[in-house]
Amino acid sequence: MQDRGTAVPSGVPADAGIDIGGTKIAALIVDERGTVLARGSAPAPAREGGAAMADAAAALVTGLAAEAGVSLRAAGVGAAGVVDHATGTIRAASEMFVDWVGFPLGDELSDRLGVPVRIENDVNAFLLGEAAGRADRDVLGVMLGTGVGGALIVDGDLRHGPHGAAGEIGHTPGYSDLRCTCGQTGHLETLASGTSIGARYGERTGDVLNSSGVAERARAGDADAIAVFRDAGRALALACASAATLLDIPLAIVGGGVAHAWDLLAPAVDEALRTDAPITGIPLRVIPAEKGGDAVALGAIESARRARAVVAY
Ligand SMILES: [Zn+2]
Repeated sequence: MQDRGTAVPSGVPADAGIDIGGTKIAALIVDERGTVLARGSAPAPAREGGAAMADAAAALVTGLAAEAGVSLRAAGVGAAGVVDHATGTIRAASEMFVDWVGFPLGDELSDRLGVPVRIENDVNAFLLGEAAGRADRDVLGVMLGTGVGGALIVDGDLRHGPHGAAGEIGHTPGYSDLRCTCGQTGHLETLASGTSIGARYGERTGDVLNSSGVAERARAGDADAIAVFRDAGRALALACASAATLLDIPLAIVGGGVAHAWDLLAPAVDEALRTDAPITGIPLRVIPAEKGGDAVALGAIESARRARAVVAY
């Protein structure tokens, strides 16, 4: 947190939310009442290094703030990778991000924007965004994308854990005999990620499709495609049931590209929640995300606002 008092109000006060992924940077400008005033995106120069990413994000946000005629107070970022939210530094990330690990994204963006910047992991931000406005204070978030990410809100707050790694449900074992992207065996991700759905369908049929292609086939009645989604849905629900049993969490919100095929996941999810319900007897709801592509940026703003409430900057 720096640049205290740098921003000179010249318009309506507003906050920026930034969703930084490997291919795209998306941003929102939101006023105090939560109204989205501007929205845009730009290509993410992930292979050009951290400074190029910060430049691109800052240019996007500065342009959107000017378009909306607002004075920025703060910005929140949901960034791919393991994030040290206390320092705003990236701790670990996939290889597609050059010069990203160790990059002080929070300080660098704060310098460029002239406002305090809060950094969160993108799945944590997704969950904050989806949970905002709900009465639920204990929520599991599962992101079914290229991989499977997870996040936890416990008693109203994000649970980061001592290493910032809480909620990594995608790499919990016991769901298959298949090799996971992380090198271990049987993780939830081997059945429920978009990548895995394509791979599992390919093993059955020899056809190379992405998960939305498999979804199309399932909707057309292809038994192999239906089975792949059934396996994904069952594994997802069992993972949610384990988390719910351990932590007394009654709600799981599922996002990411695979969740667009909720119609195909839901039958197996519902069946598994019947056969393997948490023994606490408390009904576990597993529902698809509702805020679409805005969830990460909205959650990043929520994270920045919460940080401001704690640290008076
Ligand atoms: Zn794994």
